[in-house]
Amino acid sequence: MIAIQLLVAIIFGTHALRSARAFHHQQTVQELSRLTVLLRDSYAELVKAGDIQTLDRLIKQHGREGGIRITVIDQEDGRPLADSHGDVATMDNHLGRPEVRMAINGQTGTANRFSDSVLIEMMYYAEFVPARSDGGRNIILRTAVPMTEVNADLRRLLGTLGIAGLAVLLITVAGVYIVSRLFSDTISTLSHRATALAAGDAHHPIEEPSARELVPLVQAVNDMAGQLHDRIVQLQANQHEHEAILQSMNSGVIALDLDQRVVRLNRSASEMLGSHVEGLTKGRLLQEVVRNDGLNRFVQSAMHEHARQPAEFRLRSDPETIVQAMSSPLTDAEGRRVGILIVLNDVTAIRRLESLRSDFAANVSHELRTPITNIKGYVETMLEVGVDDAEQAQRFLDIIKRNSDRLAAIVEDILSLAWLEQPGTRQSLEREPTLLAPVIKSVVTQFENAAHAKRITLNTNVPDDLQVLMNRQLIEQAIANYASNAIKYSPPDTTITITAIRRSDQDEIEIAVADQGPGIPREHLPRIFERFYRVDKARSRELGGTGLGLAIVKHIALVHGGRVDVHSTVGQGSIFRLILT
Ligand code: ADP
Repeated sequence: MIAIQLLVAIIFGTHALRSARAFHHQQTVQELSRLTVLLRDSYAELVKAGDIQTLDRLIKQHGREGGIRITVIDQEDGRPLADSHGDVATMDNHLGRPEVRMAINGQTGTANRFSDSVLIEMMYYAEFVPARSDGGRNIILRTAVPMTEVNADLRRLLGTLGIAGLAVLLITVAGVYIVSRLFSDTISTLSHRATALAAGDAHHPIEEPSARELVPLVQAVNDMAGQLHDRIVQLQANQHEHEAILQSMNSGVIALDLDQRVVRLNRSASEMLGSHVEGLTKGRLLQEVVRNDGLNRFVQSAMHEHARQPAEFRLRSDPETIVQAMSSPLTDAEGRRVGILIVLNDVTAIRRLESLRSDFAANVSHELRTPITNIKGYVETMLEVGVDDAEQAQRFLDIIKRNSDRLAAIVEDILSLAWLEQPGTRQSLEREPTLLAPVIKSVVTQFENAAHAKRITLNTNVPDDLQVLMNRQLIEQAIANYASNAIKYSPPDTTITITAIRRSDQDEIEIAVADQGPGIPREHLPRIFERFYRVDKARSRELGGTGLGLAIVKHIALVHGGRVDVHSTVGQGSIFRLILT
């Protein structure tokens, strides 16, 4: 804008100056021409008369009065005849002057020039004046005015033009500055806003700008930011929802890209894979983080096969975790495959239950088969041989009775266990506050004879006032099972102590049966309370054990909200505890 303004000022100024100069020139030419018309006849007369002296005086007088220079020049030889301001004797030939030459040629001669005679710039006007008849000479009448005033006028004009131009320039600059500031402020705000929008900040609207032209643009940007903000909020809500669903799923979910790098992994997955995976960062190779053959083989095949193919493998051994894995391809919006999604379901509990069930069925059948086979065998023998020999028949019947007692005991224990394991038993169990001392006394009475037979001392140490909320029958059975084992497995001449105390720190009641028996090797301890688990199968059977005694104690504890515990040292004895709350 400033450049354009300057250019306009220069063109306009130059043109104005030229016009003014031309106008002045024309004015002066007209003035001098009129003057020449006034003077030429009288000068021609004097030239014709040859009175050059008078002519010179008159010219000097006219020149002085009119403030102009007047020169009369001989047309033939160009010699000045008279001059208002100079001495003609010292003046050179004027034929070479352009205005004089033009006048000689019959034209109106004009010229601007620095005068050597008067030493200032002058404007000359020359005209041919006939004066030759009756022996006179033709003359060139030249008038001239100094250009000083004209030049001064032009300089003034130039000054005025310059000041005006400068003023216009300043006003333009100020105007342009204000307008551009007005726009550029808003535009730079808009540009910052757009950058912030691109960076995801859609919160702050832009104020309405002072430049009206920008209002719609600002409104459009604000609307766009508002919509973007709403979308972002919506997307974030969706994302949180998805995240919450993903994280709260019991199934482990792992998303992998085509390079088998982890894209997502939910909490269940990291729990299944192991605690070290918690801090797993995205983008790491799965094999790098989890070294598991089953999982890696599954991932490899899932990567290469499109169809879903479930597989089951052991993910960890401590604690044992068996998972069922399924995979499905991950695709982008265009349906291109970008990775796979693996869903892991922890089936450890189900598999363990299944194996327990089948073990149990096998164990039960096995346990039942021996007494049934015995009973069957002896009954068949009796049927074949007859019952003539009363002594033998008695012996056979004893064996049959022992085996059927054993059968009954096994069936009894299985039924007890089945009842204890029923989900509703714990809720419906009748419990009432009961003093422990009589319960333990009753157990001792029950086993007095058996203990006596092995010369085993049965001691008790139970506070009389110790009272527990319990189902008396079940608790008595539990203590009896512990006591029965202690007597069964302890050698003769040992002591068994049954104690009951209130653990002051945890508000728990602990009933302990300690013996001085053979003890139980360490490796068996974790499984001792499982059904049909025995340290020494043959010895247990021989002693009439069903292998279910401790399992029943455990379940009695569980239905009371309590637990069981065992401490044993081989060769020294065992302490079995029942802890109730
Ligand atoms: P069982 O009918 O065989 O005694 P239990 O469930 O009562 O079945 O006991 C499981 C196994 O635990 C027994 O076979 C025995 O090996 C071991 N056991 C139980 N009590 C004792 C004890 N007091 N001393 C040594 N071993 C014991």
